[in-house]
Amino acid sequence: MKIAVVGGGVVGLSTTVELIRLGHDVTCLEAGEPMGERSAGDTRIFRLAHAYPDMVELAGRARRLFPEGCVDGAGTVVSGDGVESWASAMAAAGATHEIVAAGSRSLRLPATDIAGPILVDPAGGVIRVDRLRTHLIGIAHRHLRRARVDLLERAGDRVRIWSPDGPEEFDTALICAGAETSGLAAGVGIMTPPALEHHVRFSFPIRPEAPRPLRCWITLGGFGTYQHSSAAGTWAVGADVDPVLVSWAGGREAAEQASRDAVTAYVARELPFVEPRVVGQLYCTHNPDLSDGLQFVRSGPILTIYGENFMKFAPLLGAMLAEALIDGSTPPDAGPGAR
Ligand SMILES: Cc1cc2nc3c(=O)[nH]c(=O)nc-3n(C[C@H](O)[C@H](O)[C@H](O)COP(=O)(O)OP(=O)(O)OC[C@H]3O[C@@H](n4cnc5c(N)ncnc54)[C@H](O)[C@@H]3O)c2cc1C
Repeated sequence: MKIAVVGGGVVGLSTTVELIRLGHDVTCLEAGEPMGERSAGDTRIFRLAHAYPDMVELAGRARRLFPEGCVDGAGTVVSGDGVESWASAMAAAGATHEIVAAGSRSLRLPATDIAGPILVDPAGGVIRVDRLRTHLIGIAHRHLRRARVDLLERAGDRVRIWSPDGPEEFDTALICAGAETSGLAAGVGIMTPPALEHHVRFSFPIRPEAPRPLRCWITLGGFGTYQHSSAAGTWAVGADVDPVLVSWAGGREAAEQASRDAVTAYVARELPFVEPRVVGQLYCTHNPDLSDGLQFVRSGPILTIYGENFMKFAPLLGAMLAEALIDGSTPPDAGPGAR
């Protein structure tokens, strides 16, 4: 089959690699740098822990498919409002987990004063995005084409894709263009949530006296955060900053400043083992109407995926999407949007 993958982020590249493995004629059309938008940066959090048993089960399948050395064994901790329902979801999916009391030595976090109950997900850890990127591009590079897709349209049973190179027909196509998915999909009648907001993750130096190796950490509720070890000796922190301060209309610069102030204040207040001094930052667009969850929509030969936090599922998504492109099916939704 002649297959187009629109977008060379981690989802598009993982799907391309799987289609190459299965022997198909696949072209991945990427407007800019492969894995240079939402998949940029060197690290992410992997976790089995989710609020929904189907997501826990899918994360377990994904974990087994990551290439060697791409996820470390640090473990992930989840604390805050709603931890009990995450623990129930893990229990329902048969995933190993532990509920520990505040102050437990097994936590290995850069904070000391953590309200319980606290969930430990021993299969979690840091995803080495730098290694995953090298692995995927190493296999897919001959199938990657630098081109911005302007439009997809149905051409009978096939798909016509318009780019500055002109129109080209394919048997089937996947739209996985991150922030641009919604606009491209709307052109073929697939409606996905279009809203965007700004999001920034910041890195801070870890103090020498911090316990090691630190686990990844998700705090739920109010000023929710995600945190993990990132580039050598640094601790990356992203947070649910007041939506008004990171709104699309407010602009990127204002959102970056407001996020920096809010996250730095949090680090100074809550993390005694981290210096409240920003040494790095990673910007991306985020859809405020989506959270953990996988959603798939098909219109004839065109398949679309949307959702958030895809990195931890990347190799599984590659396998699921490749199979669906080949047999014309639509993978089942998972998480909060599952029907
Ligand atoms: C700061 C930050 C922290 C995160 N933390 C986590 C985490 O801890 N765990 C986790 O699992 N996930 C996390 N995520 C989310 C995860 O990284 C993303 O969900 C994932 O990388 C999205 O991959 P993608 O391929 O869907 O999108 P992208 O990586 O954005 O790829 C889409 C690609 O499509 C290209 N494109 C767009 N429009 C066009 C067009 N018209 N024509 C051709 N190409 C086009 C873009 O250039 C881009 O390369 C985080 C994301 C960020 C930014």
